[in-house]
Amino acid sequence: MSTNENILSIFALGGLNEIGKNMYAIEYADDIIIIDCGNKFPDESLLGIDLIIPDITYLIENKDRVKALLVTHGHEDHIGGIPFFLKKLNVPVYATRFTLGLIEIKLKEHKLLRESELVEINASSKLAFGKIRVEFFRVTHSIPDCLGIVFRTPEGNVVHTGDFKFDLTPEQREERPDIHKMADIGNEGVLLLLSESTNAERPGLTPSEQMVADHLEVAFMNAERKIILSTFASNVSRVQQVVNAAYKTNRKLALLGRSMVNVVEVAIERGYLTVPDGMLIDQNDINELPPEKVAIFVRGAKENHWLHLPGCRLETFAESKFYQKIRLFLQRVQYLEMKKV
Ligand SMILES: [Zn+2]
Repeated sequence: MSTNENILSIFALGGLNEIGKNMYAIEYADDIIIIDCGNKFPDESLLGIDLIIPDITYLIENKDRVKALLVTHGHEDHIGGIPFFLKKLNVPVYATRFTLGLIEIKLKEHKLLRESELVEINASSKLAFGKIRVEFFRVTHSIPDCLGIVFRTPEGNVVHTGDFKFDLTPEQREERPDIHKMADIGNEGVLLLLSESTNAERPGLTPSEQMVADHLEVAFMNAERKIILSTFASNVSRVQQVVNAAYKTNRKLALLGRSMVNVVEVAIERGYLTVPDGMLIDQNDINELPPEKVAIFVRGAKENHWLHLPGCRLETFAESKFYQKIRLFLQRVQYLEMKKV
């Protein structure tokens, strides 16, 4: 008999008081379930460090009790540590279709795809691990296919919201939060709520994605030469809005940055993004077209290192005399995006 019988433990291995390497563990009797396994990008004080990942020593010491890794969504700070985790603990990974697409890219890079057990789930899935039953609910966030999780334990319900915002008019209807299911779970009773907290201290609501679409279209219509945009690569609904604006204004779109290309490929292939045939062009062909026929989409990222590096890939496409101007412009765009304007 386990010494842990009838004790419910919940602990974070990352993501508290920091942005990055999100990872929670829920433990009951002989079972440990992991939620998310993110990475964190190093700051200037950590020269020589590529990536920071959670310390999973406790999990390795209790290897046989770790039953599953459940992934709420595909942001780097929730999936970036998965290859390193699976090298030590090869447990089944449960995630939605889009999230799995992004995880697969990572596992391929680490040559782990073949030996990994990936299980596709959706908001209606029901799972059970020992005495813990698991259900999910749809939440809206800045990446498609996000889930919140309910753990039904003998001690009561534990709810993990994942990252979320309430947007009732997202770019894709199916991304709307399932408020009814959340209300039902609330009515049942919740022993503990683990809630996303980035910027939670700020009053008010995040504006709907729809507002961004309107502004983008106006900007595209008014632009007389090349358009250069930046967003987090994973923000597929924002990418869709840019595609729509480019289509309406008869511009071709070039993607820059490996993660931008990867995410767009997964999103198109799995049906989360619709791009008209012939719209995407290679970065080397940018200068073959008149400036007013091109938009350039550059990956942004939380670390943003490329913005500060001389000789970064911006130089590969920008006319050099405009380089400094473009750099300043992009920094401004990133700043506005971080402020969620
Ligand atoms: Zn997120």
